Order: sequence, then structure tokens, then C-alpha cells
Amino acid sequence: MSTITNHLPTAQLQALDAAHHMHPFSANGALGKEGARVITRAEGVYLTDSEGEEILDAMAGLWCVNIGYGRDELAEVAARQMRELPYYNTFFKTTHVPAIALAAKIAELAPGDLNHVFFAAGGSEANDTNIRLVRTYWAEKGQPDKNIIISRHNAYHGSSVGSASLGGMAGMHAQGGIPIPNIHHINQPNWWAEGGSMSPEEFGLARARELEEAIEELGENRVAAFIAEPVQGAGGVIVAPDTYWPEIQRICDKYDILLIADEVICGFGRTGNWFGSQTVGIRPDIMTIAKGLSSGYAPIGGSIVSDEIAEVIGGTEFNHGYTYSGHPVAAAVALENLRILEEEKIVEHVRDVAAPYLKEKWEALADHPLVGEAKIVGMMASIALTPDKASRAKFASDPGTVGYICRDRCFANNLIMRHVGDRMIISPPLVLTPAEIDEMLVRIHKSLDEAQAEIIAQGLMKAAS
Ligand code: PLP
Repeated sequence: MSTITNHLPTAQLQALDAAHHMHPFSANGALGKEGARVITRAEGVYLTDSEGEEILDAMAGLWCVNIGYGRDELAEVAARQMRELPYYNTFFKTTHVPAIALAAKIAELAPGDLNHVFFAAGGSEANDTNIRLVRTYWAEKGQPDKNIIISRHNAYHGSSVGSASLGGMAGMHAQGGIPIPNIHHINQPNWWAEGGSMSPEEFGLARARELEEAIEELGENRVAAFIAEPVQGAGGVIVAPDTYWPEIQRICDKYDILLIADEVICGFGRTGNWFGSQTVGIRPDIMTIAKGLSSGYAPIGGSIVSDEIAEVIGGTEFNHGYTYSGHPVAAAVALENLRILEEEKIVEHVRDVAAPYLKEKWEALADHPLVGEAKIVGMMASIALTPDKASRAKFASDPGTVGYICRDRCFANNLIMRHVGDRMIISPPLVLTPAEIDEMLVRIHKSLDEAQAEIIAQGLMKAAS
């Protein structure tokens, strides 16, 4: 076989891709026929494909490239670390400087007494760690039956068997024999789709109280933890009404339930604070981190746990760990990424510049005929597509049909925007400038107009009279 490089023609790369590469979350047969777009380079907030097209990446990869693409400093740190100590583990009785330095830095950044980090290679592994951590914690405290974890329908917490069980994605639960036992799901606080005649505030309280009802039903002595993202990401960038989180915190405190904040998306500046928990005002006992920890430049994640949990777990041998827990190259890259986030004041840039600028323009999208609510927190945002915004109507077509049309229009207009059902979402690099925000909005408006025309042509929505 000839050497496969960027210089091969697109069609040849696509054919090889179709023949040998299985894509995640894809129907590979259909994708192989269509041909996947080949991404060859990236700089700042733009990707380049094998045809030389420049694509504005409004998803920061998979919600992860917080500092933007093309930062040489990270490449240099990785090369230096690879030469010095490319790999060693931290099992048993060894450690190394990148893991020590990164854990100490994360403890410094994390709020409250979240001072201890258990590393993983990504968010799924970290959430698997959390399942074992909380169950071991309660067992060590003499309550082994306090082992049920409550999560939310439509949540995404990863793709491993454990983390996908925590997640509440129906399509994932339909395949491969999940969920595992003793995971329970309550409803998500999606007022637009499910709020009915309730005000957002009433609905937020009602959805939070589902946690209390579940605890009462399952038994306070059976429920170990509640896990949720401060702002639900892959579930559709669902921003809970203001009443939701204070009530969740009250319930966790009242029943002695550990609160796990999945910060895989919300962490490291995405919501305008270092952690989403600070934005929504909660005090988690455990945080899951990944993605923005290294801005996606190296695979790394982890669980940050409180002093109390670390002390209890420390009383036993915790029989858990990954070959790549605290991988020195990934840890060194993550540390350099945190240096850039801090020294370049990127979290402040989100809070003071990018998010306020985007918010005004984003909320104005609700004036588009195809758009119902437009929600935004920091640099993650969503719009609900609707055939009739006054009644918050859903499309009669299968959920996702309209979202898919809109997503494809964006793709054709060189804009990466994702759909979740009939909701469109963005999570761009945090370094997006006001001029790039303007450009993104131009492409979004064009794509929405084209999608609306196509939806009307397909008879899925009436033309405005
Ligand atoms: N948790 C959340 C909230 C996520 O969004 C994701 C991935 O998108 C994960 C966990 C899983 O992380 P990973 O893909 O790194 O395993």
C-alpha cells in the first residue's frame, strides 16, 4: 500500500476511511457511501479540509478545544516530555512530576475542599471511577447498600458501560446491555420542551423535587449520589431554570447524598467561571473533568474529590486504575494548557468579552421564524427549532429530522454546529473574537434561512402567510 498522507486525493482517502475506519456514533455503512469530510489542519477557530475549505468550528471539536487550535507551546511541551519520560505509571509506589504538578494545579483551581485528583484518559473513564469511588466510600463508611446513583434522562456521561449507564440516552441504552444495576434516572429540566403551562421557576422546582421523590421511593439509605452536568451539554445545552440547582443542593444536603458535578464540558472556562458548579452555585463532592483540561490536545480526564472522600477511600486499597492514569505527556500538556488559560486570562475573556457579546446576538436568534427559545450560558448555547413558537410546538416529523436538515445546511456553509433532536447547539473555542462571533452568526443566519426553505418545501412547516 502506498503511504497515506494529506497529499492523496480526497476520494482516495475517503475510500480507505470507508474500508477500514469505524467512526463513533455513526451508521458506518451510509457514511462510507457518502464519504466523511477529511480534516487536514486547524488554526485558531478554523479547520481546513482536504479540499482546502475553511470551516468555522463552533463546537471546538467535541466541546474541548478551549484555547483554540495551533498552539505550538503544547506541541513543544509534549515533545520535551516524551524525550524525558514518555511513560511511567503511578500505580503502587511510584509517581512523577507531571502528575504531581497537574494534580496540585487542579486542586488550586477547584473550589472548596476539592483537593484530590484521580486521573483517567477521558471523561468516560473518570465517570466509571466515580461509580466505584462513591460505592466504595459508602461501603467504607459501613453502608454498602447505599449504592444507587441517580442521574437524568437524556444525560450524556460517556460511552463506556458504566458511564453510559449513568447517562440517560435512550439510543445508547437500547444497545449492548446497559444500564448496569442500581442506576436510576429522573427527568431533565428542559422547560421549553416539557414545561407545559408551568412557569420556568415552577418547572425548575418540580424537576428538582423529582430527586427528592426518587430518594423517598428508593430509600435514603440506598441512594449514594446524584450526578449531573451544571449545564447539560450533549443533551441539548439545557439551561435549568434558576430555581433548580438551589433545590438540588438542598435535597443532597438533607439526605446525605453525594453530589457529582460532571464538569467535562462545563469545566475550564466554558461557562465564564473555572467550573460550571460556580456558575450555577453548587458545592459538589466530586467533579468529573476532561476535555478542556488539555483543550483536547492530549487525552486526559479525572475525578476531583473532597478531603472527606479522599480520607475515607484512603483507608482501604482502592482496586481501580488505568494504564494511562496521569500519563506524563498528557499531564504535561494539560498543565501547559492551564498555564495558557490562566496567563492569557481566557476565563475572564469569556466572562467579560466573548460571552456578553455573543449573548446579545444569540438571544436575537429567537426572532428567526424557525427558532423558539435561544439559551446561552458563557460559551455554550442552544436554539430550539419549532414550527410555531407561540405554542412551543414540536415538528410532526421524527425528532431530529429538522435538526438534521439544519445541521447539514451549516456543514455546507462551512460551519460546524451540532443538532440534538430538533435543537441546535454550539460550544466554540473560548478564544473566539467578536469578529469571529459576527462571522459565525452570518453563517448561522444563512443556514437557518436555507433550512427553513427546505423544511417548508418538504411540507414540515407552513410558509408564513
Ligand atoms: N461527560 C460529559 C458531560 C461529556 O460531554 C462527555 C463527552 O462528551 C463525557 C463525560 C465523556 O468523555 P470522554 O468522551 O472523554 O470519555
